[in-house]
Amino acid sequence: MSLQAILIDVDGTITDPLHSSMDPQMLWCRLEELLMAKKHISRKSANARILSCGDCETHCLSEFLDELDIAQEDYFAAICRYLKNKIVIPDDTKRFLEFVKREKIALYTATTNPRFVTLAKLAAGGVAANHLGCEYFTGYYSGCFFRDREGKFSPRFYPDILKHGNFSPDRVMMIGDEPHRDMLPACRAGIKYGINIDRTRKEPFIEKNGGYFINSMDVLHDFIRNIN
Ligand SMILES: [Mg+2]
Repeated sequence: MSLQAILIDVDGTITDPLHSSMDPQMLWCRLEELLMAKKHISRKSANARILSCGDCETHCLSEFLDELDIAQEDYFAAICRYLKNKIVIPDDTKRFLEFVKREKIALYTATTNPRFVTLAKLAAGGVAANHLGCEYFTGYYSGCFFRDREGKFSPRFYPDILKHGNFSPDRVMMIGDEPHRDMLPACRAGIKYGINIDRTRKEPFIEKNGGYFINSMDVLHDFIRNIN
Protein backbone atom coordinates (compact mmCIF):
# COMPACT_ATOMS: atom_id res chain seq x y z
CA MET A 1 0.00 0.00 0.00
CA SER A 2 1.49 3.36 -1.03
CA LEU A 3 2.45 6.11 1.37
CA GLN A 4 -0.20 8.76 1.84
CA ALA A 5 1.92 11.24 3.76
CA ILE A 6 5.38 11.79 5.16
CA LEU A 7 5.71 13.83 8.35
CA ILE A 8 9.07 15.33 9.15
CA ASP A 9 10.61 17.12 12.12
CA VAL A 10 12.57 20.32 11.40
CA ASP A 11 15.40 20.94 13.89
CA GLY A 12 18.11 18.30 13.59
CA THR A 13 16.19 16.38 10.92
CA ILE A 14 15.74 18.75 8.00
CA THR A 15 18.56 20.87 9.43
CA ASP A 16 21.94 19.68 10.59
CA PRO A 17 21.98 19.78 14.41
CA LEU A 18 25.74 20.33 14.55
CA HIS A 19 25.33 23.78 13.11
CA SER A 20 22.12 24.82 14.81
CA SER A 21 22.93 26.68 18.01
CA MET A 22 20.21 29.18 18.56
CA ASP A 23 19.15 31.69 21.15
CA PRO A 24 15.73 30.46 22.33
CA GLN A 25 14.63 34.10 22.56
CA MET A 26 15.65 34.88 18.98
CA LEU A 27 12.11 35.10 17.58
CA TRP A 28 10.97 37.39 20.36
CA CYS A 29 14.09 39.60 20.16
CA ARG A 30 13.79 40.10 16.40
CA LEU A 31 10.20 41.28 16.77
CA GLU A 32 11.08 43.51 19.72
CA GLU A 33 13.86 45.17 17.74
CA LEU A 34 11.61 45.78 14.71
CA LEU A 35 9.01 47.40 16.94
CA MET A 36 11.58 49.51 18.79
CA ALA A 37 12.96 50.83 15.49
CA LYS A 38 9.62 51.42 13.81
CA LYS A 39 7.75 52.97 16.74
CA HIS A 40 10.72 54.62 18.47
CA ILE A 41 9.89 52.93 21.76
CA SER A 42 11.92 51.23 24.48
CA ARG A 43 12.48 47.49 24.67
CA LYS A 44 10.18 47.41 27.68
CA SER A 45 7.32 49.07 25.76
CA ALA A 46 7.89 46.81 22.75
CA ASN A 47 7.75 43.83 25.05
CA ALA A 48 4.47 45.02 26.58
CA ARG A 49 2.91 45.58 23.14
CA ILE A 50 3.77 42.06 22.00
CA LEU A 51 2.42 40.56 25.22
CA SER A 52 -0.85 42.45 24.79
CA CYS A 53 -1.51 40.76 21.42
CA GLY A 54 -2.34 37.33 22.75
CA ASP A 55 -1.05 34.06 24.11
CA CYS A 56 2.49 33.48 22.82
CA GLU A 57 2.42 29.85 23.89
CA THR A 58 -0.38 28.90 21.55
CA HIS A 59 0.25 31.43 18.79
CA CYS A 60 3.14 32.16 16.49
CA LEU A 61 4.39 35.74 16.94
CA SER A 62 3.86 36.20 13.21
CA GLU A 63 0.11 36.11 13.92
CA PHE A 64 0.48 39.39 15.85
CA LEU A 65 2.20 41.32 13.07
CA ASP A 66 -0.89 43.07 11.65
CA GLU A 67 -1.86 44.28 15.10
CA LEU A 68 1.69 45.49 15.71
CA ASP A 69 1.85 47.16 12.28
CA ILE A 70 4.94 45.20 11.27
CA ALA A 71 5.13 43.77 7.73
CA GLN A 72 5.36 39.98 7.40
CA GLU A 73 8.28 40.45 5.00
CA ASP A 74 10.22 42.53 7.52
CA TYR A 75 9.87 40.04 10.37
CA PHE A 76 10.68 37.15 8.04
CA ALA A 77 13.79 38.92 6.74
CA ALA A 78 14.94 39.72 10.29
CA ILE A 79 14.64 36.07 11.33
CA CYS A 80 16.41 34.92 8.15
CA ARG A 81 19.27 37.36 8.75
CA TYR A 82 19.70 35.97 12.26
CA LEU A 83 19.57 32.36 11.04
CA LYS A 84 21.75 32.81 7.98
CA ASN A 85 24.98 31.36 9.36
CA LYS A 86 23.34 29.19 11.99
CA ILE A 87 21.25 26.92 9.82
CA VAL A 88 22.61 24.26 7.51
CA ILE A 89 20.35 22.05 5.45
CA PRO A 90 22.54 19.12 4.49
CA ASP A 91 22.67 17.73 0.97
CA ASP A 92 20.94 14.46 1.92
CA THR A 93 17.91 16.51 3.04
CA LYS A 94 17.95 18.47 -0.23
CA ARG A 95 18.07 15.22 -2.25
CA PHE A 96 15.24 13.82 -0.13
CA LEU A 97 13.02 16.87 -0.72
CA GLU A 98 13.55 16.48 -4.48
CA PHE A 99 12.87 12.75 -4.26
CA VAL A 100 9.59 13.18 -2.37
CA LYS A 101 8.48 15.82 -4.85
CA ARG A 102 9.32 13.52 -7.80
CA GLU A 103 7.43 10.64 -6.16
CA LYS A 104 4.46 12.98 -5.58
CA ILE A 105 4.14 12.06 -1.90
CA ALA A 106 2.58 14.70 0.35
CA LEU A 107 5.13 16.05 2.81
CA TYR A 108 4.19 17.81 6.05
CA THR A 109 6.26 19.18 8.90
CA ALA A 110 5.57 17.82 12.39
CA THR A 111 7.46 20.16 14.66
CA THR A 112 7.44 22.67 17.45
CA ASN A 113 8.24 25.34 14.83
CA PRO A 114 5.23 27.28 13.54
CA ARG A 115 4.81 27.44 9.75
CA PHE A 116 6.30 30.95 9.53
CA VAL A 117 9.42 29.92 11.47
CA THR A 118 9.80 26.68 9.52
CA LEU A 119 9.74 28.69 6.29
CA ALA A 120 12.37 31.08 7.68
CA LYS A 121 14.61 28.12 8.52
CA LEU A 122 14.04 26.63 5.06
CA ALA A 123 14.84 30.02 3.50
CA ALA A 124 17.98 30.44 5.60
CA GLY A 125 19.03 26.95 4.47
CA GLY A 126 18.37 27.80 0.83
CA VAL A 127 15.27 25.71 0.04
CA ALA A 128 12.46 28.28 0.38
CA ALA A 129 12.19 31.77 -1.09
CA ASN A 130 9.80 33.57 1.25
CA HIS A 131 7.17 33.32 3.98
CA LEU A 132 4.38 32.36 1.59
CA GLY A 133 5.27 28.70 1.17
CA CYS A 134 7.76 26.12 -0.05
CA GLU A 135 7.33 23.95 -3.12
CA TYR A 136 8.30 20.78 -1.26
CA PHE A 137 5.66 20.94 1.47
CA THR A 138 1.95 20.26 1.36
CA GLY A 139 1.37 21.43 4.92
CA TYR A 140 2.90 22.45 8.23
CA TYR A 141 1.83 20.86 11.51
CA SER A 142 3.11 22.57 14.64
CA GLY A 143 2.14 23.01 18.25
CA CYS A 144 0.33 26.26 17.55
CA PHE A 145 -1.47 24.74 14.58
CA PHE A 146 -3.61 22.87 17.12
CA ARG A 147 -3.49 25.69 19.71
CA ASP A 148 -2.14 23.12 22.14
CA ARG A 149 -0.06 24.59 24.96
CA GLU A 150 2.07 21.44 25.11
CA GLY A 151 2.71 21.68 21.38
CA LYS A 152 4.63 18.79 19.96
CA PHE A 153 4.99 17.27 23.43
CA SER A 154 1.26 16.84 23.80
CA PRO A 155 0.09 13.20 23.66
CA ARG A 156 -2.56 14.50 21.24
CA PHE A 157 -0.04 15.84 18.71
CA TYR A 158 0.25 12.84 16.37
CA PRO A 159 -3.37 11.70 16.80
CA ASP A 160 -4.46 15.28 15.99
CA ILE A 161 -2.35 15.26 12.80
CA LEU A 162 -3.80 11.93 11.67
CA LYS A 163 -7.30 13.21 12.29
CA HIS A 164 -6.77 16.59 10.66
CA GLY A 165 -5.14 15.12 7.57
CA ASN A 166 -7.59 12.22 7.43
CA PHE A 167 -4.55 9.96 7.13
CA SER A 168 -4.54 6.17 7.49
CA PRO A 169 -1.79 5.59 10.05
CA ASP A 170 -0.53 2.51 8.19
CA ARG A 171 0.22 4.73 5.18
CA VAL A 172 2.12 7.42 7.09
CA MET A 173 5.83 7.86 7.85
CA MET A 174 7.31 10.09 10.56
CA ILE A 175 10.96 11.11 10.36
CA GLY A 176 12.75 12.72 13.31
CA ASP A 177 16.02 12.89 15.20
CA GLU A 178 14.75 12.45 18.76
CA PRO A 179 13.12 9.04 19.24
CA HIS A 180 11.17 10.09 22.35
CA ARG A 181 9.66 13.11 20.66
CA ASP A 182 9.37 11.87 17.10
CA MET A 183 9.46 8.17 16.28
CA LEU A 184 8.07 6.65 19.48
CA PRO A 185 5.02 8.90 20.04
CA ALA A 186 4.28 8.68 16.31
CA CYS A 187 4.35 4.88 16.48
CA ARG A 188 2.18 4.96 19.62
CA ALA A 189 -0.38 6.91 17.60
CA GLY A 190 -0.40 4.04 15.10
CA ILE A 191 1.92 5.51 12.46
CA LYS A 192 3.44 2.51 10.72
CA TYR A 193 6.83 3.85 9.67
CA GLY A 194 8.75 5.59 12.45
CA ILE A 195 12.17 6.73 11.28
CA ASN A 196 15.00 8.05 13.45
CA ILE A 197 17.89 9.81 11.76
CA ASP A 198 21.30 10.23 13.35
CA ARG A 199 23.85 11.35 10.77
CA THR A 200 26.74 10.32 13.06
CA ARG A 201 25.73 6.64 13.13
CA LYS A 202 27.93 4.13 11.37
CA GLU A 203 25.24 1.72 10.25
CA PRO A 204 23.12 3.08 7.40
CA PHE A 205 19.94 1.21 8.39
CA ILE A 206 18.79 -0.78 11.42
CA GLU A 207 15.30 -1.97 12.31
CA LYS A 208 14.78 -1.90 16.07
CA ASN A 209 11.97 -1.42 18.63
CA GLY A 210 9.38 -1.19 15.88
CA GLY A 211 11.21 1.69 14.22
CA TYR A 212 13.94 2.28 11.68
CA PHE A 213 17.29 3.93 12.47
CA ILE A 214 19.10 5.56 9.57
CA ASN A 215 22.23 7.69 9.15
CA SER A 216 21.21 9.60 6.03
CA MET A 217 18.00 10.56 4.26
CA ASP A 218 19.48 8.89 1.18
CA VAL A 219 18.68 5.50 2.74
CA LEU A 220 14.98 6.32 2.52
CA HIS A 221 14.76 6.55 -1.27
CA ASP A 222 14.88 2.78 -1.79
CA PHE A 223 12.93 2.11 1.37
CA ILE A 224 10.06 4.32 0.17
CA ARG A 225 10.20 2.96 -3.38
CA ASN A 226 9.78 -0.53 -1.91
CA ILE A 227 6.72 0.56 0.08
CA ASN A 228 5.20 2.24 -2.94
MG1 LIG B 1 14.43 17.51 16.12
